[in-house]
Amino acid sequence: MAVCEIISVGTEILLGNILDTNSRFLSRELAAMGISVFHRTTVGDNKERLAQAVRTALSRSDIVIATGGLGPTADDITKETCCEVMGSRLVFDEEAAARIRGYFSGQKRTMPESNFKQAYVPEDGVVFTNENGTAPGAGIKKNGKCLVVLPGPPFEMEPMFLKYVKPFLREYSGSVLVSSEIYTMGLGESAMAEAVSDLLELENPTVAPYCRMGEAFLRLTAMAENEERARELIKPVSDEIVRRLGNSVYGVDCGNIETRTVNLLKEKGLTLATAESCTAGLVAKRITDIPGASTVFKHGVITYANEVKVKVLGVDPGTLAAHGAVSEETALEMAAGIRRISGADIGVSVTGFAGPDADEEGKKPGLIYTAIDTADTRICKKTETGRNDRNYNRFVSASRALNLVREYAEKRGRTNEEQ
Ligand code: AMP
Ligand code: MG
Repeated sequence: MAVCEIISVGTEILLGNILDTNSRFLSRELAAMGISVFHRTTVGDNKERLAQAVRTALSRSDIVIATGGLGPTADDITKETCCEVMGSRLVFDEEAAARIRGYFSGQKRTMPESNFKQAYVPEDGVVFTNENGTAPGAGIKKNGKCLVVLPGPPFEMEPMFLKYVKPFLREYSGSVLVSSEIYTMGLGESAMAEAVSDLLELENPTVAPYCRMGEAFLRLTAMAENEERARELIKPVSDEIVRRLGNSVYGVDCGNIETRTVNLLKEKGLTLATAESCTAGLVAKRITDIPGASTVFKHGVITYANEVKVKVLGVDPGTLAAHGAVSEETALEMAAGIRRISGADIGVSVTGFAGPDADEEGKKPGLIYTAIDTADTRICKKTETGRNDRNYNRFVSASRALNLVREYAEKRGRTNEEQ
């Protein structure tokens, strides 16, 4: 398998003034092409250190891709330095010069003399046209090595890579990497990892656990000669994981809980309405982030104050007095209330303490109740995040509400169309 090293050139990267997104973009693209990246180097606009970095990279990799330092100014030295190391002469290229002139006249600007520097290209190389700027890129294949120089600005570099460099590197592209993600909620990263601990040892596909904002997921990555074969390697392992983790799995390759929930409701022909307290509309917002949500989402209310829970949703003042606003009883009455006013198949509610302070005695921040009410079910779930983080608690509250809807919808057969 071919090995590539990426060199980001620019003192501004070393100083932390800009983020090296070029390396991330290239790493992902190369992985998808089945080209390994074992090293990434960042070097400032300094000729000796850049030359040293290029020599080192060429000594341990088949391909070296440098980005940045193709500008017209004196500190832009990447092309000159790389060509020197490769033993390639730079020659003036009329076509490149014409393009640069055209770029400036197209913008009704006069071209500074210094820009002609960008019209010099390696005599034994391939020129990559810059369709979004002035500096062309270049590629040289020589002595069993391949060197590519690309402009720094991502909006110039990325299209150039996709259109010209990918085909230029095709002969190096061996196997492909394909990934699949299995998302869980409510289980926690360590419990999830424990349930599949033997599979974490696999080599192809590899299985790796990750977590994010109150949920945990596994990424399966397979390497094979083509995508179809890679998917065949992933399938049995993915099926086994889904079998073991059961209902904690909310989706495979669905991206997030709101996408899964909306798609499931569509599939089952079910409609939804939301009654939110601590999340103040976040559940409704996340549902309506998904295109096509209008076919499933009917109505959402924010009932923050107790008197509004009573007035709008018909929550019994006695329930609030006896159990408090953050309680199973209140959550269930909120869900029933919103289902009644909206006429939706499912009413879902959230009430909780986001923090930093809990406002009822003995109840801690991170205590959340989510409930659903339907024609055949009333379910309330309690969650304690154990965190005093308002943003986290609100996000997790909304996720848990969505997950409750997802669990219900999964158990239901298709409704509306058969009726
Ligand atoms: P240069 O080609 O060195 O003149 O770079 C011009 C601009 O491109 C820089 O000022 C950055 O804004 C951007 N740039 C350069 N290198 C990178 C990189 N590795 N990742 C993201 N942006 C970059
Ligand atoms: Mg620079």
